[in-house]
Amino acid sequence: MYAEIVIDHQLSKLHDSFTYEVPAELPVQLGQIVLVPFGPVRQRGVVVAFKDQVPAEIKGIKNILKISTLEPVLSKEQLSLAWWMSKEYNCTLLHVIKLMLPFEIWKGKQKSSYTTVATLNFPVSELPAKLVELRRAPKQAALLQEIAQQQSYICSSVQGLKVLEQKGLIQLEKKRSWRSLTHKYQPEPEKDISLTAKQQQVLEAFQKTPKQVALLHGITSSGKTEIYLQAIKKVLAEAKQAIYLVPEIALTPQTIQRLVNRFPGQVAVWHHLLSAGEKADEWERIRSGEARVVVGSRSALFTPAFQLGLIVIDEEHEGSYKQDRSPRYHAREVAMQMTKLYQAKLLMGSATPDIGTYYKASQGDYELLELAERIGSANGLPKIEMVDLRDEFKKKNYSYFSDKLQLELANILNGKQQAILFLNRRGSASGLLCRDCGWRSVCPACDITLTVHGPKLLCHYCGHEEAVPVRCPACASVAIKSVGVGTQKVETELKRLFPQARVLRADSDTTSGKTAHEEIYQKFKNYEADILVGTQMIAKGWDLTRVNLVGIIIADIGLHMPDFRASERIFSLITQVAGRAGRGDDPGKVILQTYTPDHEAVIFGTRHDYRGFYENEIKVRQAFHYPPFSRVLTLTYVDQNEDKAKAESKKLAQELKNKLPELEVLGPTPAYPPKVYGKYHFDLLIKLQNEALLAKILATMPRLGWRVDVG
Ligand code: ADP
Ligand code: ZN
Ligand code: ZN
Repeated sequence: MYAEIVIDHQLSKLHDSFTYEVPAELPVQLGQIVLVPFGPVRQRGVVVAFKDQVPAEIKGIKNILKISTLEPVLSKEQLSLAWWMSKEYNCTLLHVIKLMLPFEIWKGKQKSSYTTVATLNFPVSELPAKLVELRRAPKQAALLQEIAQQQSYICSSVQGLKVLEQKGLIQLEKKRSWRSLTHKYQPEPEKDISLTAKQQQVLEAFQKTPKQVALLHGITSSGKTEIYLQAIKKVLAEAKQAIYLVPEIALTPQTIQRLVNRFPGQVAVWHHLLSAGEKADEWERIRSGEARVVVGSRSALFTPAFQLGLIVIDEEHEGSYKQDRSPRYHAREVAMQMTKLYQAKLLMGSATPDIGTYYKASQGDYELLELAERIGSANGLPKIEMVDLRDEFKKKNYSYFSDKLQLELANILNGKQQAILFLNRRGSASGLLCRDCGWRSVCPACDITLTVHGPKLLCHYCGHEEAVPVRCPACASVAIKSVGVGTQKVETELKRLFPQARVLRADSDTTSGKTAHEEIYQKFKNYEADILVGTQMIAKGWDLTRVNLVGIIIADIGLHMPDFRASERIFSLITQVAGRAGRGDDPGKVILQTYTPDHEAVIFGTRHDYRGFYENEIKVRQAFHYPPFSRVLTLTYVDQNEDKAKAESKKLAQELKNKLPELEVLGPTPAYPPKVYGKYHFDLLIKLQNEALLAKILATMPRLGWRVDVG
């Protein structure tokens, strides 16, 4: 018998796994870590497959030396998932397994620490009598009293306790102490919530449907989270586990607290900022079944919830569910695969579902559940006021702040309230925009924004080129340029307009640390600033009662991204921002500044009309063969040498066209952005009409050197 073993080594780029012989006396199981000879050293590897025979050309097969972990560290389902991902995302098996196995566990370097817990050996009612017995030893009496006061007394030093133990008064027990984040949270009592009739209906429909996947489309604050929690409760009652994904930005102490309150002692937290030790410990708590709900960002999917019954993906449209480095997976796709492997259910929710997800749900592939009203009917959605920036330009107001926005900001400052100003992207986009009439540069073939590339306008999808116009093709104005605005520029201008205002900035420069995001939230909540300027920050669970104004500085920046999802992103941004404005009785105000008030995303966004936006957008997608009517495969070659990157891309394009004549290969074109860290990126773009094509393409192309992204 032979085993295929994955080893953490450079060579795994070329071979997914290495073959070893299983000695007859070793009861090796799938998913175990075993010790094997590897070159001059010994390595711990993971058993990923067995086989009876090996090809004759493989010579000198060595034996597995010993089993390092008795319990498998990966489930059979995880192994299947790893194989699937390595094929689907064109990456090595090692790459995927590293997502599933914390470093300390793999290397066997886990440090376990223990604490001693003391408990009384007698009923508390006898305490006074015992204290009398100890009257000659006041220190011991005090200690005993302290132990009695706490349910379990965790002590740092054991010395004083030993005496009490010898006298038979207490019991000492060594307990594993976990380096887990959740242990910092104490469950707090919650107010009782009984589901509304609508929520009840939705929950029942979810429990009853034979479909494995459901989409909950519900406007902001319609009570979606409550449905997730009830669904989780149900699977826990069936002795199963649940994984609850939230966007990175929403993984706040408030979110964790809400879960700890609901499921005391059973919550694990998982995200990429955990230390190696915290990861190892959370991993063990989940595998042992002590932790039954894993809340986390996309990588929480790979935790060892071997008894998985349910995956919840909140805000399923969020970009952070896609990993932008290898393996370039999307949490939604991985979760779907997992529901098949574990026979589990998937519940996705959003106020602005991904267009593709909503399409599949309306086709009947997923159960479609809707919540159309906010909890507490008095709480309407805030009114969004649109400001046409072209008018401001004509009035010769060249600042980022329309007269209207300036006025509202002044009101906020006078009234001792707070405002949030939004830029939907840091820095600038390089599409052209006419500030007089709102014309934008768009590719005729692809319907995406053309970007400025030296003297040319370029389509990053198909390579279409035109000269940068001197005058606006629509109105002949010379006021055409790229739109771009950074948080810093906005901050500077704010300070000029309102010298007395206290301004706080939140963008990827200021929120990169582990707790920076939370610190900014706390500062703003404590009223240490009047205005918050930032990119991605209003998360669910932010409880900011003073915020009565939200401004979107230029909605168009998002529209000017060269990406077929640009409209969808903008629509969703407007909806999310509006959904967070205002609290309690006052729905608050949203001011949206734009050069393109006629754009569908802006029109439907200000009306809070998802369905209207969807109906429109799905037609565009169909006309231009974008997802969900195809999958967009992007192949990227990266090199320091621009000519080489371009030549390699051309070569592959030609090879693919020769081998698979039915393919329509676009490019090569410079990627967006074209140069990152001194390296040139060239893209080939292929619209895949079916899944089988993807496998064919991946099989014909070199595995190394190419970046593969399926969108
Ligand atoms: P969503 O996830 O759709 O944004 P939430 O589930 O967070 O909405 O609900 C919004 C608010 O309403 C929360 O404060 C929540 O505690 C409260 N809530 C939800 N369901 C109910 C209910 N059935 N009765 C009373 N309050 C509710
Ligand atoms: Zn114009
Ligand atoms: Zn094009």
